[in-house]
Formats: sequence, C-alpha cells, structure tokens
Amino acid sequence: METTSNNRPFYFSKSKYCGFWQCPKIAWLDRYKPEEREIDPSLQARFEAGDEVGDLAMGLFGDFVEVTAFKDDGHLDLRQMIEATQAEMAAGTPVICEASFSYNGLYCAVDILKREGDSWAIYEVKSSSHGDKQVYAADVAYQKYVLEHCGVTVTGTYLVHLNSEYVFDGELKLDEFFAIDDIAGTVAYEEESVEANIERARQVLASTEEPTIPLTVSCFEPYRCAFWNYCTRDLPSPSVFDIYRLGTIRKLGFYASGKVSFEDLLGDDGVTNEKQRRQIEHALTEREDHVDHEHIARFLEELTFPLYFLDFETVQPVIPRYIGTKPYSQVPFQYSLHIINSDGAPLEHREFLAESGTDPRRVLAEQLCADIPLDGTVIAYNMSFEQGRIRELAEIFPDLRDHLLGINSRMKDLLVPFSKGWYYNRAMGGSFSIKSVLPALFPNDPALDYSNLPGIHNGSEAMDAFPALECMPSDEREAVRQSLLKYCELDTYAMVKVWEKLREA
Ligand code: SF4
Repeated sequence: METTSNNRPFYFSKSKYCGFWQCPKIAWLDRYKPEEREIDPSLQARFEAGDEVGDLAMGLFGDFVEVTAFKDDGHLDLRQMIEATQAEMAAGTPVICEASFSYNGLYCAVDILKREGDSWAIYEVKSSSHGDKQVYAADVAYQKYVLEHCGVTVTGTYLVHLNSEYVFDGELKLDEFFAIDDIAGTVAYEEESVEANIERARQVLASTEEPTIPLTVSCFEPYRCAFWNYCTRDLPSPSVFDIYRLGTIRKLGFYASGKVSFEDLLGDDGVTNEKQRRQIEHALTEREDHVDHEHIARFLEELTFPLYFLDFETVQPVIPRYIGTKPYSQVPFQYSLHIINSDGAPLEHREFLAESGTDPRRVLAEQLCADIPLDGTVIAYNMSFEQGRIRELAEIFPDLRDHLLGINSRMKDLLVPFSKGWYYNRAMGGSFSIKSVLPALFPNDPALDYSNLPGIHNGSEAMDAFPALECMPSDEREAVRQSLLKYCELDTYAMVKVWEKLREA
C-alpha cells in the first residue's frame, strides 16, 4: 500500500473524501486528532436513520446480494468484501449492495451497484429528502473514479433519497417512499476535480503539521463541522459566534474583519440590533435584569384562567410507522399539562404517555380534549411546535377537529417575552430556549435542574427512549416510562415557574 512521507499508509474512503471536500482540515484532524471530533446527538441520529434507510433501499430493485462482511473484532472485513464483489460481478449478479472496491489507497463501498448490460450504475442512498446537495455529487464522483480505475465501466449515477411527499397508508411501498434522481450532470462537474482533490489530500495528510485554515462557511455547510469546538478553542468566550440571531454570514464577516470578542462588536461598526447589543452589554458588565414592565404586563393580561401549561414529546421516524404520516413526521406520544384554575388556586398536573408499539395519536388526542376543556388559555413555550402537532391531529380526527383547533386558537407563547427582548438576564447568554431561560431565572434550584432528573434529560433522549420501550423487559420499561414522565413534567412545571417570575416582574 502506498505510504505518505510520514510513513503512515494513505487510505481514503468516500466519507473521508467528502470530509476533505468540505474542508481539508477535517481530513487532517480525522487522521491526526480524531479524539477532537464531537458528534452532536442530532447528527448521530441522522447517521442511524441513514443505516435504516440504507438497509431498506437494498430491496428497491428486487433480488440483491449484499457483500458486507465483518472481522472477529467487529470491524468491516474490506478485503473479503472486495473479493466477494468481484465474485458476484463475475457470476452475473444483477444488484450488489455495499459493492466494494480499492485502488491505490482509495476505498469505496457503493450502496447499490446495478448491472446495466455490460456496464454498471451507481446508486447512492441518502436518508434526506433533498437530492440536490452538491456534496452528494462529490461523493458519487469519488466512487465513480475508484470504480473506473478498477476497470469497471460506470454509465449511470443516481441518487436515491426520500420522497418527502410520500404518505404511509399502512403498507410501505419502496418505489413511492424513495425518489431516484439522475445526477450525471452534477457528477460530471465534480469528476473534474476528483483527481486534483485526491492529490491535494495526499499532500495535506503527508504532513504532520496542522493546516492553517480560517473559519469559513465550510464550517457549517453542508454539515456543521464536528471539529468546530477544537478549531474555535482559542476564540474569546463568548464570541461573535454566540450572538443571538446573527446570521452565519454576518458572524463570519465580523470574524474575517477581526471583530471577534464582545468588546469588538460594541464599536461603531459592530452589531446594531437592540437585542444583540443588550446581550453584549449584559455580558460585559454586571447589570440588573432588563425588564420591560409595560410589555410584560400586557402579555400577562391576555392570559385568562384557567391556565393550561402544555408540552408535547414526539418521535420522528424516518420510515413512517403510522397511517397518514410522512418520512420524519413528528408524532406526539406524550404530554404534560399543569393547570391553574384561578388566581391563587393550587397547581394541578395531568399527563399522558402512550403505550409503546401502538399508534399513540388517537388516545392522546382524546385525552388532550378531555384534559383541556373549551375555556381559558393554553400556554406553550415556542408554541408553533405544539400548534403544528395539534393541527395534524385535527386533520386526521375530524370528530375532534373543532375541539383541537379551539385549543390552538387559545394558545399563547411563553417564549414571546424573552424573544421580544422584554426580559433579559445575562445568564441567558442570548439563548431563549426554556433550557437556558430556566437556570438563568432560577439559578441553583435543584428542583428545576434537568441534570438531576433520572435517565432522561432532554427531548432527543425522550425521542430515542419511546421506541426503545418496545424491546425492553417490563421492569426496565417501567423505569424508563417513569423517567419520561418526570422529564416532561419538569418541562411544564418550568413554564409555570417562568410565568410566576414574569408576574413578579
Ligand atoms: S471547524 Fe471549520 S476550519 Fe475547522 S476543520 Fe471544521 S470546517 Fe475546517
């Protein structure tokens, strides 16, 4: 195998090529400082969804042979996969999945390799509903390069992605669930630079010296870079990249002109937005909380008892499981509801958590209508999410439609006093999610600290836990159900405490 000048063998896969394509430093860090990579949970969830979708897509063209093989240590056995691919191609197999090739240190496994007469077509499978990302074409161009240097004639390049309009009717139809785009045009464009990219990658990886590359839009596109924290470790904290609702391009513009610290950004040509300046001023100097009493009072006057503090938890299956849903539809399976019937009345709590393995929507919708009668104000935090789920329930259950839409019409958003800048506390750090606002308003209160919860501490953990319940033994299942209930309950209890704080203000 070819070696680089630092005597480590040069080895490139399609994911490494795509990393290099995004930013050369990604490939270098992957090789020399892989421990600095930080995978955020949503990216991890996307990878897992990708595996699920990839397995499903294998059946898209009927019978197929998959050549995936593992070694005893659990790693892929690439040599065996390459040999098996050659054997299947020689045997006339029409569809080979994970078809593997290696040329001069360049390796790739084609998701689906389909015979087309004497030549072959590459089908790259993505779990996204967008088929037009340039990085996908770069990925396929790299594969085509490797295959052609292995003597394989490639006459078709296709992207298999999710059809965002597909609606599940009880039976999954692969040919409707997937959409297939011919991406020959964009692949041809990318093909022109594959060899030069590989040559440049060889040079970058040959050096043990870390490349000096400034932060650019590549740090965010096509994916947020997993080395972001490493590359920004020497920036002041907070920095321009922590400013509330300042677009990426503007942040990068300030960064490029040397305005990185909050002090820099207060100058004449710094940020001008009132809320952003307030965030900076509060961070730089100890100040009283900013409270716009008049606006807050008006907001509170619009809330009428009984008050219903509502929060949903949802799952988002990439492969739809429930009739009428699409890929990645948000399906509510749980809610928490705190109720205050009148001023000074004791706090009541209701909750719902569906049985795993069932369609949660009808039972949830019925109980929601029973728990929230047609009076008072329903309060959610970032209410567009709750309203969206309720609207979807109203569409599929016409008999509950009026009641559900009535709930929506009486909903108010507790986020508004913060997002509008009527209440600001420096500990919010420019973020107005309930997870930032709560500790800012109630520091050191263990009862309001999500990290003290057993098992489940955030929405993505809840999202993962609910489908996993199906396969758990009953005692473990009960413990996880209790964790889900506690987590969701804290979300609405937090809203009650925030409302009380606004009233005090
Ligand atoms: S954070 Fe930006 S500069 Fe650093 S490796 Fe990632 S893309 Fe490159």
